Amino acid sequence: MPELPEVETIRRGLERELVGRCITGVTWHRERKLRASSPRPLQELAGRQVASARRRGKFILLSLSDESVLLLHLGMTGKLLFCDPRDALRPHTHLVLDLDDGRQLRFSDPRRFGLLKLYPGGAAVHDLDHFGVEPMDEAFTPEALGILLSASRAPLKAFLLDQRRVAGLGNIYACEALWRARLSPRRQARRTPRASVGLLRDSIEAVLADSLAQGGTSFNDYVDHIGQPGKFIADLAVFQRKGLPCPRCSAPIRRIVQSGRSTFYCPACQR
Ligand SMILES: [Zn+2]
Repeated sequence: MPELPEVETIRRGLERELVGRCITGVTWHRERKLRASSPRPLQELAGRQVASARRRGKFILLSLSDESVLLLHLGMTGKLLFCDPRDALRPHTHLVLDLDDGRQLRFSDPRRFGLLKLYPGGAAVHDLDHFGVEPMDEAFTPEALGILLSASRAPLKAFLLDQRRVAGLGNIYACEALWRARLSPRRQARRTPRASVGLLRDSIEAVLADSLAQGGTSFNDYVDHIGQPGKFIADLAVFQRKGLPCPRCSAPIRRIVQSGRSTFYCPACQR
């Protein structure tokens, strides 16, 4: 599933390639239902110019010239790709936008956990209510993280996945940040040693920045807006590395299941 670095990679591509373009036509395959219905029909995108591309957590927000907002989430398998109109349509294509430079922007999503919603200008985007701090913002200070940690009885791994606390982290970067900070994913959040809070903050920011610099992480599905996979997979320390030696202490990486999801960590050097 695309997490912050992958979504931010796509957002930057959209900022370069889509902002300023006019949408001249819309094809919406309504029969291929996504998980949520849109407040306004997506056909209303026709004739609008794209004014900006922002990100909140794992969501992308495209603001249009009439101040409406297209909210986008890639779910598990969503792809947003610039295409030539003559390119064959991928299976599971939900939306095709014709652009005034002759290209198309297409959204496909085989597993349909993605989301496309058009909000009229001035409307509150309720999907983003209760979102927590952005880990690459200045507001993500050791003090801010310390307050959040001290209020939570959840294990650290579950704490980091909770979008209401820190927005944008998923399974990969939660595991990797905890490894960098030498903290066990099973440790209760409020029992994080005071001395480790700053290191955890720095580890989260660093793993996201390092991945972003490589265009994110691709296992099977993720590619950016021009079809390029991310290259951070070679730099993963623990994620999907069960049984392999820890890059720091050589103990075998362990896989456990927490809240129904795989966690990878080093039981020897993460405490
Ligand atoms: Zn280790």
